Amino acid sequence: MKYLVIGHPIAHSKSPQIHQAFAAQFNLLDFSYERCLAPLDGFAGLVAQFAEAGGAGANITLPFKEEAFRLCTKLTERAAAAGAVNTIKCVDGVLLGDNTDGAGLVADLLRHTGLAGKRVLLLGAGGAACGVLLPLLEQMPQSLTIANRSVARAMSLAEKFSGNIKIIAQAFDALEGEFDVIINATSASLSGEALPLAGSIFAKDCVAYDMMYGKGETPFMEQARLAGASQCIDGLGMLLGQAAEAFYVWTGLRADIVPVLAAMRAAL
Ligand code: NDP
Repeated sequence: MKYLVIGHPIAHSKSPQIHQAFAAQFNLLDFSYERCLAPLDGFAGLVAQFAEAGGAGANITLPFKEEAFRLCTKLTERAAAAGAVNTIKCVDGVLLGDNTDGAGLVADLLRHTGLAGKRVLLLGAGGAACGVLLPLLEQMPQSLTIANRSVARAMSLAEKFSGNIKIIAQAFDALEGEFDVIINATSASLSGEALPLAGSIFAKDCVAYDMMYGKGETPFMEQARLAGASQCIDGLGMLLGQAAEAFYVWTGLRADIVPVLAAMRAAL
């Protein structure tokens, strides 16, 4: 069974190492997973060629997640809600598009804290934030607030996803009260920037989660620790979680992320 991770650039991707480790857990000897650099104007052709040649599935990364969403002939509910596809399964000429980012985040968060009945704050309103909203809402938090630098983007997500739980959209400096779980889905940490957040929004037992990961604390994790958050977690577990969910979509097998996470953490 042949799988790919398709992106541009792609050399940095850890997905082959992760999926090969998952396949080894089940002794899947015919499982092959490779990186594929797609030309910026050649994504659709490459996917069609791969599927025609018997490819079983692919992970899609930047900048092709929205193009993959438009290309797939069938979508899961969570991919439709996200407006982006990070996992394609090729089934009898049909390209089934899925989005496992949110499931990966929620699975990792649940290893550290419950979400039901919690006051959740999501920072950011880009692709990653949009992709995790439906799975977060399915956990039935008490409230969900989205804060973003461009408030209009937060408002548009709040409007799209508000249902039984009404989502509040705000600017960073307008946030009031305390939150039990604060998730950073901005890319501010990538440029080493902290967000303009008041320390008072971190509740006493607050769990702070940065989707970014790397060696040591991100600026957001440091900010949360100094504000008294009880747990500050980076996004490596989310990366493993979304991969495990994609592996399940393809194979029906639930891989154990714990040993793979430990090995990757040690190698950072
Ligand atoms: P997008 O480019 O789609 O969105 C970026 C978001 O960050 C926007 O909300 C943007 O605000 C905000 N932002 C950027 N710079 C700043 C800043 N200096 N100050 C405040 N806000 C800022 O990116 P993605 O949503 O795809 O990715 C976001 C983060 O999530 C990245 O760090 C990425 O690495 C991480 N990620 C991690 C995953 C994992 O598996 N661990 C999976 C997916 C993403 P505005 O709208 O105002 O521009």
